[in-house]
Amino acid sequence: MDRDSRIFVAGHRGLVGGAITRALRNAGYENLLLRDRAELDLSNPEAANTFFHENQPSHVFLAAAKVGGVHAKRSKPAEFIEENLRIQNSVISAAHRHGAEKLLFLGSSCIYPNFIEQPIEEHSLLTGPLEETNQWYAIAKIAGIKMIQAYRKQYGFSGISAIPSNLYGPGDNFDLETSGVLPALIRRFHEAKVTGAPEVVVWGSGKPMREFLHVDDLADACLHLMRNYDEDDIINLGCGEDISITELASLIGNIVGFEGRIVNDTSMPDGPPRRLLDIDRMAALGWCAKITLTEGIKATYQWYIETNRTEGEPNGTRTHIEKVPPTRGKISDLSGILNRTAAWRADGLRIGFANGCFDILHPGHISLFHQAQAACDRLVVGLNSDISVKHLKGPGRPVNDEKSRATLLAALGDVDAVVVFVEDTPLELIEAIRPDVLVKGADYSGKTVVGADFVQANGGTVLLARLEEGHSTTNTIKRLTSG
Ligand code: NDP
Repeated sequence: MDRDSRIFVAGHRGLVGGAITRALRNAGYENLLLRDRAELDLSNPEAANTFFHENQPSHVFLAAAKVGGVHAKRSKPAEFIEENLRIQNSVISAAHRHGAEKLLFLGSSCIYPNFIEQPIEEHSLLTGPLEETNQWYAIAKIAGIKMIQAYRKQYGFSGISAIPSNLYGPGDNFDLETSGVLPALIRRFHEAKVTGAPEVVVWGSGKPMREFLHVDDLADACLHLMRNYDEDDIINLGCGEDISITELASLIGNIVGFEGRIVNDTSMPDGPPRRLLDIDRMAALGWCAKITLTEGIKATYQWYIETNRTEGEPNGTRTHIEKVPPTRGKISDLSGILNRTAAWRADGLRIGFANGCFDILHPGHISLFHQAQAACDRLVVGLNSDISVKHLKGPGRPVNDEKSRATLLAALGDVDAVVVFVEDTPLELIEAIRPDVLVKGADYSGKTVVGADFVQANGGTVLLARLEEGHSTTNTIKRLTSG
């Protein structure tokens, strides 16, 4: 893998994919191919095949998967086995078919048999029964490892598989329904601290021993393997030390600053008594973990507070933790939008642009955004300011002010950014953003679309989006005001 390699990080928005992307950028790899699930559903073999055909990645980090904690795995076994099989089959097969030089696949320590000698050596795979809740996920992961080994045997394909222990770090999933034990404990201790709750309940007896690897260490190890390892055998990736759940809870409680009691709920299952990976193979390749558990949890807690903080509130003073609102960060002024579009462009993403007053959102708008999103990688919406709507449409408009209109637009999955403009037309905005695709409803013609000449002269295209019949803001307002 060299600086010019075309590197596909599958699942780059996830915990692991995000860390691998950061590590690659820090190491000077710029030619990254990144697609989120809305752009490229990797469980669809045809979509994966087309992507590989068009983009010819030379190196693939396969970090896209359906992942979750005990609760999620217990309640959705069919999704865990099927989606993981689909994703890995599509990607491994397309990578081989389109000549990728190397692919790294990620298993998980839970694929080893349930009761097994510790620390777990790589040759223990398939030597005993699997843990019941994990078995569906584990079987899919084992199938991925075997597929890679089979491709090496039959086609000489350079696929390698690594088996990480439990991971944690910035970007972790803190949703209590689906998260792993470490982020769940961080969240529960934090919430208990800010609400002044006297106790935190920890599931199970607290006795099981678990190993945790910081995701930035994992990413560093993945780059090390991509550069230095090309063999059939799977490789464990861990930190070499484990800790009981009771000790972990007490460490997190101290870092968070929780002063109440820790109580065990022994009605909840413990899972396997111990799960520590033997890391001799990785050590022999010259790699070891560098981030201590205390440092790593501190950084993760900091990230959690920052990401869940409401603007204007100091860190850690909230009484109620919410997920990050979907609108956060999407609404920007022009300079913010230009920074974002420059970063997207650097990632090789195509930028779309649509504009309008969007007084009252209706299905016609949703359809236009959907068609626009299908024609680009990131969609920017230019929104007429209140003054410009009044000027264009008359004193009774807009129905909703620009803040409300921007918030609604930013909550839409197909919209990636919203910028308000004060002029009557978005021409200046279009010239600044230089979109690859300019989108307007098909009631306009190519000639009447503001900015069409500029976009086309710069190699872009104009998309006249199909209209949905029966929806119009003017008619809706007429209906509302007709008595
Ligand atoms: P995350 O859930 O954080 O990330 C998974 C990523 O995969 C997400 O970005 C998700 O996209 C993407 N994805 C899921 N389905 C599809 C799809 N059909 N098409 C395209 N993208 C898809 O998981 P992690 O980063 O934690 O895990 C990554 C890998 O690391 C997995 O293989 C996992 O087994 C392994 N691993 C993880 C451990 C952990 O503790 N987290 C431990 C050991 C191994 P979207 O955001 O849109 O859902």
